[in-house]
Amino acid sequence: MGKMVYPDYVREFIVVKYETTQNLTAIAKEAKRIFDLPQTEEAIRKWCSEFFKKKNSSVKIKRLFFDIETSQMYFRGWRTGEQYVGPDQIVKDKKIICICYKWQYEDEVHVLTWDSKQDDKGVLKKFIKILGEANEIVGHNGDRFDIKEIRTRSIKQKVLMYPKYRTLDTLKKARKYFNFPSNKLDYLGQFLEVGRKLEHEGRGLWDKVEAGNKQALNKMVEYCQQDVILLEDVFHVLSPYIDHNTNHAVLNKFDKWRCPECGSDNVSLCHTDTTAMGYIKRHMKCKCKKQYHVSNRTYLSYLKSLSK
Ligand SMILES: [Zn+2]
Repeated sequence: MGKMVYPDYVREFIVVKYETTQNLTAIAKEAKRIFDLPQTEEAIRKWCSEFFKKKNSSVKIKRLFFDIETSQMYFRGWRTGEQYVGPDQIVKDKKIICICYKWQYEDEVHVLTWDSKQDDKGVLKKFIKILGEANEIVGHNGDRFDIKEIRTRSIKQKVLMYPKYRTLDTLKKARKYFNFPSNKLDYLGQFLEVGRKLEHEGRGLWDKVEAGNKQALNKMVEYCQQDVILLEDVFHVLSPYIDHNTNHAVLNKFDKWRCPECGSDNVSLCHTDTTAMGYIKRHMKCKCKKQYHVSNRTYLSYLKSLSK
C-alpha cells in the first residue's frame, strides 16, 4: 500500500479534533464519515498516530496500557455443582498465557506469550522491565487482578518486581465517579461509543490454548490486543471526568499549574471555592477538556506567568 496523503482540510480537521480528544479511534471514525475517506478506520487511526508522534516532539508521559490472559486452574472433585474447592484439590496452577501492552502516543500493541513449554518466566522478566519504564500503568481492574496475578507468578518464578507502581485502574474510576449499568470494559466501550471487545468462543478457546493449539493462541492474542486498544480509548473518554493519578506537568518539570493530563499551558480558571478548613481551591480547565484544581499559591504563579 502506498503512503496516504490527506488534503490539508482533513489534516486540519484531525488537528483540531485532537485538541479536544486524544481518542484516535473516535477521530478516525469521524474523519472517515465526514470526508468519506476510502481507507479503513484502522489505517486512518495509524496515520493519526504517526502524524501526532512527529508533531508532538515534546516530552510525553510514558503511559502504559496493558491486559493479560491467564490459563485456567485445574482441580479434582467428586461432583459438579456448587461446592467448596479447597487448595488440596488443585492439580495445576494458573499461569500467564499472554500480556499485551501499548504505550500512549505509539501505535503498536506489543505481545508477550508463554513459551512452547507453557513457561511464563520469560514473559514476566520482559514485562516487569516494561512496567519499570512506565510513568503510569493503566489497566481495567489492573490493581486488583492483573498486577497481582503478575506478582503472584513472579514470586513463584523468582523474578523480582516492585511492591508498588503508579497505576490508574479504569474499573476503580468507573465505580467511583459514575453509575454505569455495568462497569465491564466491553460495556463501557459500547456505552461510550468507542468500540467493543472481539467476540470469542469463551472457555473452549482456553482449553485449546492449554492443549498447545497455536492457532487458538494467536486468536487469544488478537482478542487481548483489541482489549488494550479498547482500554486506551475508554481511558481517553473517561479522563476529563475523573481525577488523575499522575501529574504530567510536574513529571516533565513544567509549572504545577499546567494541565496534569497533557502538560499544556493553555489553561484557564473555571471557578473558586473553599474547603471546610478555609483553604482556597482554584478549579482550572485545559483545552484538552481536563478539569483539575490547584492551590491558591499555584494559581498565583499561574497569574505571574501570564504577565511574561
Ligand atoms: Zn490538558
